[in-house]
Amino acid sequence: MIFKSLYELTKEERERIINRNKANFDNIFDSVVKILRDVREKGDEALRYYTKLFDKVEIEDFKVSREEIEEAYNKVDYKVVEALERAKENIYYFHKEQLKNIKELRVERNGVLGQIVRAIEKVGCYVPGGRAFYPSTVLMTTIPAKVAGCKEIYITSPPTPEGKGNAATLIAGDLVKVNGIYKVGGVQAIGALAYGTESIPKVDIIVGPGNIYVTLAKKLVYGEVNIDFLAGPSEVLIIGDEFSNPNYIALDLLAQAEHDPNASCVALLTSREKAEEVKRELEKILKDIDERKEIIKEALKNLAILYGELEDLIKFSNEYAPEHLELFVREPEKILEKIESAGSIFLGEYSPVPIGDYASGTNHVLPTSGFSRCSSGLNVETFLKKITYQKFDKEALRNIKDVVITLAEAEGLKMHAEAVRRRLRE
Ligand code: NAD
Repeated sequence: MIFKSLYELTKEERERIINRNKANFDNIFDSVVKILRDVREKGDEALRYYTKLFDKVEIEDFKVSREEIEEAYNKVDYKVVEALERAKENIYYFHKEQLKNIKELRVERNGVLGQIVRAIEKVGCYVPGGRAFYPSTVLMTTIPAKVAGCKEIYITSPPTPEGKGNAATLIAGDLVKVNGIYKVGGVQAIGALAYGTESIPKVDIIVGPGNIYVTLAKKLVYGEVNIDFLAGPSEVLIIGDEFSNPNYIALDLLAQAEHDPNASCVALLTSREKAEEVKRELEKILKDIDERKEIIKEALKNLAILYGELEDLIKFSNEYAPEHLELFVREPEKILEKIESAGSIFLGEYSPVPIGDYASGTNHVLPTSGFSRCSSGLNVETFLKKITYQKFDKEALRNIKDVVITLAEAEGLKMHAEAVRRRLRE
């Protein structure tokens, strides 16, 4: 843990905090390439081989049957089904509002210029399932695609040790009415969605989080298909001032830490006293935690609690570009204007990250490791294409001809110039 004034951080400490969790794929590169090649060449046979190797189960038919989905409803507490339904409604609501703000265009400049919007047709959603299962990720990946109007949406997720689909994951997929759920995970699932196999259709875009193998596989199939972005271990950065409750800040740091031993947690406070209060609260709560304590302890090795002037804390946050940013200050909206990079922002002490993880309606698949500097989280636009068009008449073509002919000839493309010149000669 680093506990310090922001102004006393050494260059190395600052870099260590900012450059957290940059994935190093060197040691796994060759094996991931081999799995992808095998899936492309051998299809389902390779899926069976790698599922047995990594997930320790033999699966004949990867597609989850209707019967298996019905069984899942019998296994899961009805409260969970209801919670998934309510979360589904909220996620639909927010993403439908997002869609309303994506406009087609038709303007005039010389001729008519325009833009039409179309949904990507086939979507593959990867839902992780190695160490834990994530039915919430089913909702977060499939609903924006549904709202965008994608015609075919498929889910892949690793099988349970019994060779079944995880019950809550299946129910979430059923609630959103996806076109197919497949019991296959890891690199082999990404390969199947990218190239298609006898039982799994090839898609146009693959989205969703996963471990380092899944992440590298997504990076390698980009170009064959589109992908959303690469998401690594989860992270939170919290900015608090003299009005913020240190107990809430400590709780949220711990909630983030329980995700993953590589999770990153940063708290930025406006005074040393507040920073000390946060540290004390954290140690107090930690004493009583039993579950996932080893994961939390490991993640807290990366914890940084820093203090400084509010303006400098904001600058630091913009440089860090967190996945989750909590603004626990008196007037969070005022700070919102100054934020340049973050995956999703939580304003005020009654807006902890878990509401966005599950239920508020915003998406939880977000860029990590500083990638929010150049990417948004998953949203309706991820699944849309903007196609431009133009319509010129002879008069409009004449008005623009000199520019086209001059630039085409400067680039040595004679037929480009002639395509315009000869039309106007007639
Ligand atoms: P996973 O589904 O990503 O990976 C499990 C698969 O990894 C297995 O099915 C297996 O095929 C493959 N695998 C295991 N060992 C392998 C090896 N040696 N070589 C090749 N493949 C191998 O599940 P996970 O491992 O639990 O990881 C899930 C990740 O997703 C976690 O880091 C979690 O924090 C993250 N996550 C992120 C979000 C988000 O929205 N950002 C949501 C949920 C989960």
